[in-house]
Amino acid sequence: MATSRQIEIGSRMGYRYEYGFSVVEEEEIVTTPPPLDTGDKYFFFQFRVRFTVRKREGGAAAGDDDVVLDRERYNLSLRRRENDGERRREGLRTFFRKILAGSRLRDYWMSDDEITDLCHSALEFAAEKSERARIVPVAVELNVCSVQKEGETFEACRERAIVGSKLLPLYLYLYPEEADVSRRRPFRPHNLVMINMPRIRVEHVDRNLMMEGCTLCKGNAVFGDQLSFLTCGHVFHSHCIARRLEHSNLCPTCSFQLYSFDLLQN
Ligand SMILES: [Zn+2]
Ligand SMILES: [Zn+2]
Repeated sequence: MATSRQIEIGSRMGYRYEYGFSVVEEEEIVTTPPPLDTGDKYFFFQFRVRFTVRKREGGAAAGDDDVVLDRERYNLSLRRRENDGERRREGLRTFFRKILAGSRLRDYWMSDDEITDLCHSALEFAAEKSERARIVPVAVELNVCSVQKEGETFEACRERAIVGSKLLPLYLYLYPEEADVSRRRPFRPHNLVMINMPRIRVEHVDRNLMMEGCTLCKGNAVFGDQLSFLTCGHVFHSHCIARRLEHSNLCPTCSFQLYSFDLLQN
């Protein structure tokens, strides 16, 4: 792996984000080849995410035997024009950080600083490689690691671990794009509704808001869970309400209409 960074900011919450970049074969990532001879550069990124838990041993967390709980992969690409000025390049960096990559990275509870750091490093890496190539296919290996804290049981750590299956489903996003073609779904109004719904992670389990738990899975909202807030004020796990709204447009608790099926026919 050519570059590897480790960031400690998220560790205050008991999570750590480690990543590295490498140039891979074009066929692995590039599904639609870009047009020829434009002089532009094309950066293709594939995020290969592992969701892991790490045991604390002898007071320090060790990285060698992380237990992998879940994985996900997604693609995104960026075109850099030959004659882009510095202002447009800055715009591209912002778009990459806020929309393309950032929308999913925020689901991992990464801070803005952590996201900025990862995105800038990824773009710098690709830019450096683009001096010799027009198309740069980059794999971003990202370990979203839940680290056992002092005084915490390994079971408790596992329970609050961030895993892809307990986040807003990846197929809802337009960007980034789910890498596994068999998991993609056609766009529906429900995608936008879900993505635009405010989401938070549970930091304090004693807040009144969380006491009711999620009525869809009958589970309590535990530390680290991702929750979505409906416009009617009701709260559910993001992955629970996303699945429900695939075939219903009503709040499961109060039947408030969250979107219109009419949009489907147009
Ligand atoms: Zn639930
Ligand atoms: Zn409601």
